[in-house]
Amino acid sequence: VTDSRGGLGAAVGPGPGETTLMADAGRYRLMACAHLDRVLLHLVRELAGTGAVAAVEPAGDGSGQCQLVVEPLAGIRAALVIRAAAAAVLDAQVGRARGAGHGWADIGRVLGLENDAADIGVPLDEAAFNCSTIGDVDHDAGDYPRWVRWTCATCGQQVTDYGPLCGPRPGASEDGHADDCARHLTALAPWVDDPNPDRP
Ligand SMILES: [Zn+2]
Repeated sequence: VTDSRGGLGAAVGPGPGETTLMADAGRYRLMACAHLDRVLLHLVRELAGTGAVAAVEPAGDGSGQCQLVVEPLAGIRAALVIRAAAAAVLDAQVGRARGAGHGWADIGRVLGLENDAADIGVPLDEAAFNCSTIGDVDHDAGDYPRWVRWTCATCGQQVTDYGPLCGPRPGASEDGHADDCARHLTALAPWVDDPNPDRP
């Protein structure tokens, strides 16, 4: 199945459990925060020393249990590290999704970009590509990527992806698949009789 702009991927639409995932977003966020609190403590100790973490008894709590709190400026520095790491994790998953054959529109939908893309009048796949920071970013063009690089899960080769603006032909927008990559050959099939299949 291909998405509207040439991505070879799974069927478009909410996947199994995706609606539940959205409904549970608040609960998952709390779970992540609980884990990240421990990461934050560890990072603050590394960044600012053990003195930047103190055990305090919450006022009026009455439980007798102490709570670990961090020096707030060290806490901000540690939180910035966590934010950068989370962005890197997201980028890695976007790259894996492209590598697995999901199109940029599919990825944009999961990233929740539909409303933003509509508001600024940009196609969803283009909005998703523009959000990606896993490639070469063109600062002169408003920090949009010129290309994004990922590993094709079918042929194992590193692919340079020039994005949806190159048009729907994967021959023009994806460079680096193995000559016998089944995924790429399938994607190229609609243009196999075209005298210039690499034309955008
Ligand atoms: Zn490939």
